[in-house]
Amino acid sequence: MTDPDILVVGGGLHGLSAALFLARAGRRVRVLEARRVAAQASGYSAGGVRTLGRHIAEVPLALEAVARWHRIADLVGDGCGFHAAGQVRVAENRAELALLSERVARLQAGGWTHEELADAATVRRLLPAVAEHVVGGIVAHRDGFAAPLRTTLAFGRAARAAGAEIVEEARVTAVERRAGRWHLRTRGGAAHAAPLLVNAAGAWGGRLARAAGEPIPLGFNAFQMLLTDARPAFLAPVVGATGRPLSFKQSESGHVMIGGGHKGHADLDTGAVQLDVPRLAYSARTALDLFPILRGARIVHAWAGIEGVTPDELPVIGRSAVADGLVHAFGFSGHGFALAPLVGEIVAGLLLDGAAHHPIAAFAPARFGQPGAVPETQSALLQPAG
Ligand SMILES: Cc1cc2nc3c(=O)[nH]c(=O)nc-3n(C[C@H](O)[C@H](O)[C@H](O)COP(=O)(O)OP(=O)(O)OC[C@H]3O[C@@H](n4cnc5c(N)ncnc54)[C@H](O)[C@@H]3O)c2cc1C
Repeated sequence: MTDPDILVVGGGLHGLSAALFLARAGRRVRVLEARRVAAQASGYSAGGVRTLGRHIAEVPLALEAVARWHRIADLVGDGCGFHAAGQVRVAENRAELALLSERVARLQAGGWTHEELADAATVRRLLPAVAEHVVGGIVAHRDGFAAPLRTTLAFGRAARAAGAEIVEEARVTAVERRAGRWHLRTRGGAAHAAPLLVNAAGAWGGRLARAAGEPIPLGFNAFQMLLTDARPAFLAPVVGATGRPLSFKQSESGHVMIGGGHKGHADLDTGAVQLDVPRLAYSARTALDLFPILRGARIVHAWAGIEGVTPDELPVIGRSAVADGLVHAFGFSGHGFALAPLVGEIVAGLLLDGAAHHPIAAFAPARFGQPGAVPETQSALLQPAG
């Protein structure tokens, strides 16, 4: 490729989605990925596609993104393993049900009807194996889940087919804006330059922002997942809990995936993760409490993926407040998988015509002020990833 119009740092879902929309708009795009496509959070995600329980600021984006998941093959030429199986958040006592009821009322006051309050009988109809003590919940019928690695690779293939160049093993080590262009250097010394830059570096997005002259606070977590052996089918929707972290689903093959934000340990410098076994055990116990049918299941796999987490647990999406030609899309705080079919289009809109075309004010890079020296610590967050 001759010199690109746009450099994208990060070959995860958001960098690839941006590359796809930008390449389809006729721009020459080069993605620089430190390792390989899907090497970080996007490849290790639980793949939950969820409007349910979203922060109010994310609801419009999540609704639009889920609409796109229902026709994902039109976008990337692959079904991505998407199942519109719905998502259910259960209440384990009356106090939790009251909280869920308040939430649904708040959404309805804003004109949103995608979350429905469900009584105990309705929840039991949707989740026949759920524990006796569950008193109700909320449901989003159009939500579901997809296959993370397959999805990320599909976005990569589609971006390449549209003309984007994806360079793997290209870790960006230096960033400079000079004479109207971004100049990036990768480990090994290769130089890349373009007028426009996308920061889609995931948990490392804070470092890239700082290198570009814009400190944005970003912590990180190593979200952990468990996988059981194949069980007879007992569950269709994705399940979350209200009072404790849980994200729980059964795949077509019968394996049950248990997550929910219980974090392990991560080292941003090396990309290494370490599982925290007591916290994994806590996840397993929560799953067993809610689905006693799992008694006797064997854990066959456990893993963790590193995710950037902002102080308000909302992503950073928007044009740089201090530098020309730079758009950030990072820090999805445990729930960015579902948004990927939309965020690439938003990034392309911001770069090409200066408008997002979707409500993103709550995600502005400048919302934390100019923090100066930004601590980069593993976040204490224990929220459901999914
Ligand atoms: C275990 C787990 C479960 C999850 N479950 C869900 C879920 O159910 N539903 C949901 O919506 N979300 C979920 N998420 C969150 C979701 O997966 C992420 O928000 C999303 O994948 C983030 O994509 P990304 O492209 O921003 O980051 P990443 O996929 O991490 O991609 C960033 C890329 O940038 C590269 N990079 C970093 N620094 C540099 C550099 N200097 N030079 C070049 N490249 C660089 C990295 O190597 C990486 O490949 C989960 C996350 C985890 C970890």
